[in-house]
Amino acid sequence: MTTLTRADWEQRARDLKIEGRAYINGEYTDAVSGETFECISPVDGRLLGKIASCDAADAQRAVDNARATFNSGAWSRLAPTKRKATMIRFAGLLKQHAEELALLETLDMGKPISDSLYIDVPGAAQALSWSGEAIDKIYDEVAATPHDQLGLVTREPVGVVGAIVPWNFPLMMACWKLGPALSTGNSVILKPSEKSPLTAIRLAALAVEAGIPKGVLNVLPGYGHTVGKALALHNDVDTLVFTGSTKIAKQLLIYSGESNMKRVWLEAGGKSPNIVFADAPDLQAAAEAAAGAIAFNQGEVCTAGSRLLVERSIKDKFLPLVIEALKTWKPGNPLDPATNVGALVDTQQMNTVLSYIESGHTDGAKLVAGGKRILQETGGTYVEPTIFDGVSNAMKIAQEEIFGPVLSVITFDSAEEAIQIANDTPYGLAAAVWTADISKAHLTAKALRAGSVWVNQYDGGDMTAPFGGFKQSGNGRDKSLHAFDKYTELKATWIKL
Ligand code: NAD
Repeated sequence: MTTLTRADWEQRARDLKIEGRAYINGEYTDAVSGETFECISPVDGRLLGKIASCDAADAQRAVDNARATFNSGAWSRLAPTKRKATMIRFAGLLKQHAEELALLETLDMGKPISDSLYIDVPGAAQALSWSGEAIDKIYDEVAATPHDQLGLVTREPVGVVGAIVPWNFPLMMACWKLGPALSTGNSVILKPSEKSPLTAIRLAALAVEAGIPKGVLNVLPGYGHTVGKALALHNDVDTLVFTGSTKIAKQLLIYSGESNMKRVWLEAGGKSPNIVFADAPDLQAAAEAAAGAIAFNQGEVCTAGSRLLVERSIKDKFLPLVIEALKTWKPGNPLDPATNVGALVDTQQMNTVLSYIESGHTDGAKLVAGGKRILQETGGTYVEPTIFDGVSNAMKIAQEEIFGPVLSVITFDSAEEAIQIANDTPYGLAAAVWTADISKAHLTAKALRAGSVWVNQYDGGDMTAPFGGFKQSGNGRDKSLHAFDKYTELKATWIKL
């Protein structure tokens, strides 16, 4: 744990100079329109600063610069070994500035400072260095040609990448895109969420400090319906990579069709089932994981284990363990290093979460933990981790992504029923299975329509494995070498010998 106390972080927060301008071609710059919007901290409602509200004019500037830099070859044609070294330096700078970035992240979106410092910043740095380290170890192919032909199968950077990211892991989601996008030689325009722009803005200058040429990484803060839409409709953006809601993901596919048919890669929402069979090897461990799966990051996690499917024969024994485990997840001031649940990102998101809790009551589910807004006197947006028992999978709280700390408990009687319920949502991002029976674990994992399946754990994984969704949770994958496919075009070159 950090040696800095809450008082230290609060002092640093008071001393902080917030940079809210866009970053284009290596320079901080106001929006062309001069418009700004207010950045309010969910920790206590304080105004953090004014942020450039970019729109289509800024998108045009950024795309022009990104295209020119790409065409210059300064980065796109640099030897992979050199790009690798630069990416590793970039990751090193994130670690060097870990406390500053962690503070920005926590103030901006409300997550606990210990998470920002020990999960988000190191995770973001790892995404940059892992991709950088890989780039000079990937070989192209030679096709099986006739004697008088040489067929080369090569990968080239796609060109200008628009990256639109959400607010729940602002820095980490950005770096899951930037790692492979930059390592493969593209120029990137990053559009952070209007709810959490601060770390992305800071990141841009660190990239240039690391030696990435100016114009390769540009950052445009602003709203989705203005600058996000402008990027998605832009005819000179080659690829759009997105993490966010399924609703906006679908919209981006339309924008692509209405413009230049840019490639669109989507990491969208989830409603992940966490299935606990009666023969789970360790019910206490399963209960603790179930609590963490809904409370970590205030439940604002795409893979949150928001549907807990429990075999009926152990329900009465298991649910009290989960309720007890959830008591260790207590909302508090995120600047306190001991806090493990912070504030929801803003008032709008808090009201959304509270309205889902209301809907759980209305639909007849039974509240067994939490259920209320708390710590109102702080001016922040805090909601107790909440559990509803007696949920049917048809209820709104079981079907829709809440993106807050609200757990639906659903009982089942057989493996077939568990699988049927687990797959019965529009989403397919992740799932977990708890059982001591190895065949049941494999068979259930195979039957689950989800991009990640965890057995006897929740939320495992690192950069080595792909991450993404089936169904309406998206397409393509972040992380691992598979992510490189999104940022490269495949070319066949035939040479007559
Ligand atoms: P969101 O879809 O509202 O916004 C995501 C981004 O899209 C933001 O930057 C926003 O400004 C932008 N945007 C909004 N409207 C746009 C438009 N018309 N054109 C272009 N851009 C637009 O999502 P959110 O509320 O920021 O994030 C929460 C969502 O993200 C949840 O659904 C969550 O599951 C998902 N998520 C998915 C993953 C994953 O890897 N699958 C990871 C984290 C979060």
